[in-house]
Formats: sequence, structure tokens, C-alpha cells
Amino acid sequence: MGVKYPETNENCNGCGRCADVCKVEAIDIRGETSYPNYNLCIGCGKCIKACPNEGRDIKEGGYMVYVGGKSGREIINGISLRLMDIEEIINLIDKVLKVYTKYAQKPQRERLGAVMHRIGTGKFLEEVKLLMYSEV
Ligand code: SF4
Ligand code: SF4
Repeated sequence: MGVKYPETNENCNGCGRCADVCKVEAIDIRGETSYPNYNLCIGCGKCIKACPNEGRDIKEGGYMVYVGGKSGREIINGISLRLMDIEEIINLIDKVLKVYTKYAQKPQRERLGAVMHRIGTGKFLEEVKLLMYSEV
């Protein structure tokens, strides 16, 4: 999923339109300006688009990649990773597949989320990161 984290610029007049569209209440309007709360912001970029005064810039872009989630009888949340470009995402998918192949008990049948859950998400990610950054 593409992400765009906002920052307020000098065009902001505190009209509050951005806070109206933010679904996670990550914007405070104080006086004649607005403040994004980065602890809550999910980078959806809606506030940037909704501003009538071009009062919001993109502070940081990139992608959020979700790995190992699944629905069904047993729901697994999986994990989210922030990456900056397409090459990094391709590299991540390649290494996730390598680690999956190493541990999956029934290759092509055991779900990725189930493998991560069984061996431990921390251990799985550690191996993925090791491969990602040792082969570049
Ligand atoms: S950033 Fe734009 S929408 Fe938000 S308060 Fe400022 S002017 Fe209004
Ligand atoms: S980018 Fe999305 S989540 Fe973040 S402050 Fe703007 S509307 Fe809210």
C-alpha cells in the first residue's frame, strides 16, 4: 500500500477540513494551523488531497507492505514493514519466499502466516533481513 505522511506548510489557515477527513483522528487544529500526530497517522494521504489551500506537503512517501496476515477460522494479523522503493519490495518478497520454503512443513500448502506463527515472527523476520542485506 502506498503511503504519504503529511506536514503542514505556511498556507494552512486552520480551517479543519483535513481533520474532518482523517479517520484516525491524527490531526489537531490549534489556532490558525494544523498539527499531524505521527504516532497515530497511517500515511493514507487523504488530508493532503482534501486541503483546499495546499496547506499540506508530503513529508515522506514510500510503501507499507503487509506480510503473513490471514483471515478464515484462525485470524492472524501478520506484520507491516515500511519500505521506500519497488526494488526493496521485490527483494523482500524474494527473501520471504526463501525463508518460507526453508520452514514450510507442506510446501505450497502451509500458509505463510502459519509458518511465521509456528517458528516465531521475530525469528522469521530476522532471517529475512539477514538475507536482504547480506546479498545487496
Ligand atoms: S492543512 Fe489545509 S485543510 Fe488542514 S487546516 Fe490547514 S488549510 Fe485547512
Ligand atoms: S495521512 Fe491520513 S492518517 Fe495521516 S493525518 Fe492525513 S488523513 Fe490522517
